Amino acid sequence: MSNGIRVTVWNEGRHEKTHEKVRELYPRGMGFQIAQYLEKQPAISSVRVAQLDDPGQGLTDEILDSTDVMTWWGHMAHHDVTDKNAARVHERVLDGMGLIVLHSAHMSKPFMRLMGTGCMLKWRDSGERERLWVVDPGHPIADGIPEYFEIDQVEMYGEHFDIPQPDQLVFISWFKGGEVFRSGCCWHRGKGKIFYFRPGHETFPIYYHETVLRVIANAVRWAAPCGVPEIIRGNTQPIEP
Ligand code: ZN
Repeated sequence: MSNGIRVTVWNEGRHEKTHEKVRELYPRGMGFQIAQYLEKQPAISSVRVAQLDDPGQGLTDEILDSTDVMTWWGHMAHHDVTDKNAARVHERVLDGMGLIVLHSAHMSKPFMRLMGTGCMLKWRDSGERERLWVVDPGHPIADGIPEYFEIDQVEMYGEHFDIPQPDQLVFISWFKGGEVFRSGCCWHRGKGKIFYFRPGHETFPIYYHETVLRVIANAVRWAAPCGVPEIIRGNTQPIEP
């Protein structure tokens, strides 16, 4: 870690192949748009894009072994991710890998495994305005983010969002249609940290929004592993005689 954070941007990469509008917005894929921002950010030493159709679903041992923080975007092909790979990502998080879960990845296998709840929510794809409020201004993920910011056209996600209570809640969203949503949530699992961040619907240019990208970069730094020594569990001798 002393040489900087190694990031893997895991991107499903299917909509870009099958939906003309998504291909127009993200000609190289959504993952590359996120990656080109992250690779310019301080404390991040390398950024790689991995996709579902890559060898090993983009989750080979070589990739996982050299990942400090993984971002995850998926939507139409959650069921194609093998249970074995979901279990491997889960295990890596418990062992310290940071995981940034983006938008529709709320229903991804790794996130659902880590949460242990249904993870479903309300949604409406009508291109309405979202206003995200910072509710934890001292949190590192809110660094440099104004009191609130807006995205003109989004898919709405509304409560109730079926997640365990977040350890820290950084953003809540308001939508023009009236719903609210916990849109920036932190959890600790084992040695690892997880951040769920709501924005990111594939048919709107969400990952060109400077503030959205800044939040993702902040989250990568927050979720990076922090040199925890080996943890010893099980039957143990007293320290004092
Ligand atoms: Zn969406």
